[in-house]
Amino acid sequence: MSAAEVAVITAGTHSRQAVLVEPGHLELRDYVAPHPGPGELLIQIRCALTCGTDLKTFRRGHPLWELPIAFGHEFSGVVVEAGEGAAFKTGDEIMAAPTAPCGTCFYCQRGQENLCDDAVGRMVLGAYADLLLLPAHVVARNTFIKPAGLPFEEAALLEPLSCVVHAQDVARLEKSETIVIIGGGAFGLLHMLVLKAAGVREVVVLGRGLKRLQWAQELGADRVIDAQSADAVAEIARLNGGFGPDVVIECTGQVDGWQDALARVRRGGRVVFFGGCPPGTALSVDTRLMHYDNLTLMAPFHFRPRDVRRAFELLAARALNAGAIVNARMGLGELAEVFAMLERGVVLKCAVIP
Ligand SMILES: [Zn+2]
Ligand SMILES: [Zn+2]
Repeated sequence: MSAAEVAVITAGTHSRQAVLVEPGHLELRDYVAPHPGPGELLIQIRCALTCGTDLKTFRRGHPLWELPIAFGHEFSGVVVEAGEGAAFKTGDEIMAAPTAPCGTCFYCQRGQENLCDDAVGRMVLGAYADLLLLPAHVVARNTFIKPAGLPFEEAALLEPLSCVVHAQDVARLEKSETIVIIGGGAFGLLHMLVLKAAGVREVVVLGRGLKRLQWAQELGADRVIDAQSADAVAEIARLNGGFGPDVVIECTGQVDGWQDALARVRRGGRVVFFGGCPPGTALSVDTRLMHYDNLTLMAPFHFRPRDVRRAFELLAARALNAGAIVNARMGLGELAEVFAMLERGVVLKCAVIP
């Protein structure tokens, strides 16, 4: 065996995997990956990305997952071992969404694969690690060969970008529209990048914090509004020739943001509630707005395979400057510091490199 082969970590050898033991407590544990079964892939992670969902889970746990859990779900990597019948081979550089629908249930049959029990219920977790086992349903439907020119960091954006693509598809956005995004975090700015790449006329980011507003500006927002400024409401009202925005996309996942979205959109406009709020959050809506002002409200969640395909195409074509969303790099051994940085809001997305 050559020296290069000895260095490869694979099934049966010791590797590292981050586990969220309880809120606020991450541990890097010893992990011996199994050989992949039929249709499965064992991949060596080349990049895992932090996500707002991770930060929320780190703070308070998650309604769908019981701790302890293997942590991290945005990733790209290299196949170190392919199970029987998998359409990929050892050495393939791949990118994948962490979920896939069953394709046969009530929702899947109606084209609402984002609601399939398998989609979120059997999500791949454990990307903050050296190795990750990809289950057969994900390999079969939502895994792609990474184009050679696409950096692993950008390839790992497949999952968040799929969510964004799905929401924008549901909202049927038009190029001629004025769109306000509430929230200048990673998701808000991904929305902005996709809208600008699609040629949407005016994309405005309403955010908080000097750093975030500056990032939004640098990445190409047509206008940036400081949510904390006294003039913010009037500034939004002046958009679109004084009619207000055609569409508001809410990306904070806070009920104040949801309320604000309803108040800021123009008559006859659409509100896209993209950021999910904590469980038990109630929203009160003036029925006059809904009816006499003719608002359309939507709250798209997760994504379907066609959205993942579209997100893959956007990344492969380098159609947006998506890599700019990843503005920090840290080692797998520095995860505690990574989450401290996320808490301080000094980074959009951090690449965690094993
Ligand atoms: Zn994510
Ligand atoms: Zn299904």
